[in-house]
Amino acid sequence: MAEQIDGKKIAAQINSAVKEKIRGLLSVAGHVPKLVSLIASGNEGAKIYVNMQKKTADEVGIEFVSHEFDSDISADELSNEIAVLNADDSVTAIIVQKPLPEGISHDKVIAMIRPEKDAEGIHPYNLGKILRREADIVPCTPGAVMKILSLSNVDLYGKEVVIVGHSAIVGKPLSLMMLNEMATVTVCHIGTAEKGDLIAHTKCADILIVAVGLAEMVKGDWIKEGAIVIDVGINRVDGKIVGDVKADEASGKVSLITPVPGGVGPVTVSILMRNVLRAYKNQNVKV
Ligand code: NAD
Repeated sequence: MAEQIDGKKIAAQINSAVKEKIRGLLSVAGHVPKLVSLIASGNEGAKIYVNMQKKTADEVGIEFVSHEFDSDISADELSNEIAVLNADDSVTAIIVQKPLPEGISHDKVIAMIRPEKDAEGIHPYNLGKILRREADIVPCTPGAVMKILSLSNVDLYGKEVVIVGHSAIVGKPLSLMMLNEMATVTVCHIGTAEKGDLIAHTKCADILIVAVGLAEMVKGDWIKEGAIVIDVGINRVDGKIVGDVKADEASGKVSLITPVPGGVGPVTVSILMRNVLRAYKNQNVKV
């Protein structure tokens, strides 16, 4: 029977370490770290995540400020708003809540943020640092997956890792982070599925990570006996939240699995806080 990874417990561990480090830096910095969240008015879908971010920020000693902008804002106006935050020394980090109003490119907006203030670790500069094995501020969900595995004492060296999903915020950066730990990495996506090859890959995985966004897509017989499964998916079905893996079928086969909810999600928020801490430290401690 599978052991469930307790994401809330791991999140609490990270939060308490972040809180302690922020406390230790306060006298050097002279101010608490501040995370500014940019959100389009009417973006109800993101509110649940924003509330979680605020609650965790409060808990660890980060000031969380929400800037709501009109949903008909122009790209130039949003760019000006970011320029002001970039120049404001009291602002440690910035997070841009998705979705943005139609016609405004999320990628372009993220690239306007000073990399030192990129709370989500998705500025091209921070993504590029992963390639060079110099990662510091990391994309939150891949950072969460790596932390979950390291705190679960999983050695990645030489392991067969299969990642299903190749998005720029999850699958792609995660594949590089795994490579940096000397795992053998296969990345699957819609093309793999459409060619009919997906299950052949998932069945080989010592560690299977699924980030697709299709409720319970991965069945029990897609998974190798004794594998570790990290389910990143968050899907709403009949008012319930389920992952991308059919958990009841998987749990009879795997050695370790993250539940949904209560697995990767809470740890992702904690990695966001750890990113703010790193930005705070970089901005205030000269080496
Ligand atoms: P995305 O839509 O950007 O990417 C989806 C990926 O899945 C793509 O690589 C696509 O090619 C692939 N895909 C689609 N259909 C497929 C199929 N039938 N077979 C194989 N691959 C297929 O998604 P994303 O932003 O990376 O998010 C993926 C999931 O993870 C979503 O459910 C999202 O809610 C969740 N998510 C969770 C967290 C968290 O903190 N737990 C964070 C980010 C995203």
